[in-house]
Amino acid sequence: MTTLVNRILLLAAFITPNFVGAEEERPNIVFLFSDDLTTQAISAYNYGLKLPPTPNLDRLAKGGMLFENSFCGNSICTPSRATVMTGLHSHKNGIVNLGGALDPKRPSWPKKLQQSGYATAVFGKWHMKTKPSGFDAWEVFSGQGSYYNPDLFGPKGSRRVEGHSTDVVTDIALDWLEGRDKTKPFALMIQHKAPHRNWKPSIKELELYRDITFPEPPSLFDTYEGRVSASNHKMGIDKHMSMASDLMMFKEDQAKKVLGRLTPEQRKAYLAAFESENAEFLANPPTGKELVRWKYQRYMKNYLRCVAGVDRNVGRVLDKLDALKLRENTIVVYCADQGFYLGEHGWFDKRWAYEESLKMPLIVRWPGKIKPGSRCEAMVQNIDYAPTLLEAAGAETDWKVHGISLMPLLTNGGVTPEAWRKTLYYRYIDGGHGVAKHSAIRTNTHKLLHFDQPRNTAEEGSLWELFDLKKDPQEMTNLAGDASQSAKLESMKKLFRETREFYDDTDENAWTNRRSQKFPPEAYIRPPRRR
Ligand code: CA
Repeated sequence: MTTLVNRILLLAAFITPNFVGAEEERPNIVFLFSDDLTTQAISAYNYGLKLPPTPNLDRLAKGGMLFENSFCGNSICTPSRATVMTGLHSHKNGIVNLGGALDPKRPSWPKKLQQSGYATAVFGKWHMKTKPSGFDAWEVFSGQGSYYNPDLFGPKGSRRVEGHSTDVVTDIALDWLEGRDKTKPFALMIQHKAPHRNWKPSIKELELYRDITFPEPPSLFDTYEGRVSASNHKMGIDKHMSMASDLMMFKEDQAKKVLGRLTPEQRKAYLAAFESENAEFLANPPTGKELVRWKYQRYMKNYLRCVAGVDRNVGRVLDKLDALKLRENTIVVYCADQGFYLGEHGWFDKRWAYEESLKMPLIVRWPGKIKPGSRCEAMVQNIDYAPTLLEAAGAETDWKVHGISLMPLLTNGGVTPEAWRKTLYYRYIDGGHGVAKHSAIRTNTHKLLHFDQPRNTAEEGSLWELFDLKKDPQEMTNLAGDASQSAKLESMKKLFRETREFYDDTDENAWTNRRSQKFPPEAYIRPPRRR
């Protein structure tokens, strides 16, 4: 009898492949996106930095593939996000700087998945101004959003949700996951604000690392010898951090402003957490290098507490996938929009084509397809995500993208095929934090940077920087003026020109005169203010 029932069921499965079998085979996608969470802060990257473990990101890496050489193409929030969505570098996706807004009519991988029958949703930090398009459900911050008690904007208006944003966004995403349309595969984007500046960890993580002294990076007191543009930065831990809003080193009158959004209960926890350390500081304030060291420690603690909150919530998502028995047929992608400086070169922030901010963390788990615990050394970039996820879902990338699908890497244990890309392209024009506009290429061994205006002023002339990434991974020695490297410099300049041509980015005016695209007021999450 049982055999007969099985046969009937088997027959039913054969005659209705479009309704049962085919749908079951298409993988779900959970896209976990952080803001400014850098590879140095993820213990699975194994850099030997003696920073705290990230057990849940490590758990994801153990179950999937970690990309050792994953990069962005423009190291700043909005442009990187637009690239992730469209598979295109900034000069072709319409968003070149922080002021950009994503054209709702543009094709993107979630939109394509929605059209091919996926249930799609995005929650949390969006940061591309216009209403998310291509999603069945969305509830996002307007702009940066708030760490505490964030306002969330959706199709029906806005609401304020009490709690820490990392927890709040995960709660909303998991609620959607449980209540989703279960007849369809799904693509769910869970996008955290953390650990973006100004770092406000969850109260759950506020007591972490209290008695720990983190090791200082060797370049904390970098003097930028031979790197004229770097010396003009405005992103130094020494001079450009706010004691009150960045470092929670507030006096009583400042606390009200810095913690203004917190509920009385949350504020009480914050004041209690910093009270004795702040009093100690004020009683005997350090100066000079000792002050920089104090700021570095305070910065690291709050940044890494925010990271711990992200990690804990990644764990909640993985647990939920297990509980709902979705683990096996769900691709989990973890990434952040760019890297970040944790004191290297004396900096916080991002923007530069130097390694720490050029890199993006990328970990992908797909049981049965990706070898657990594998690591891939091929150079990959955020332009690759759209074609990869569409190929994984059996959907077509029917618009021109710059990226290439990572599927060959994901399914062969991470071995780099001979024909894989040998050069990465980078271009930054936002200009904030004193970071001069620049372009770069990176190979497996070298990096060439080109600054149009080295001092971020109207000064004429251009400047090159050449680094040997194997001998000088911290990029401290600019070889562009080294006579013994002139042949290498010329070959890299040639490659630079070729790469620009390859990506069709040779029109200087296209960047210099770029104005953000404008859309009708109703296209925006919050209509732009008119003067
Ligand atoms: Ca960012």
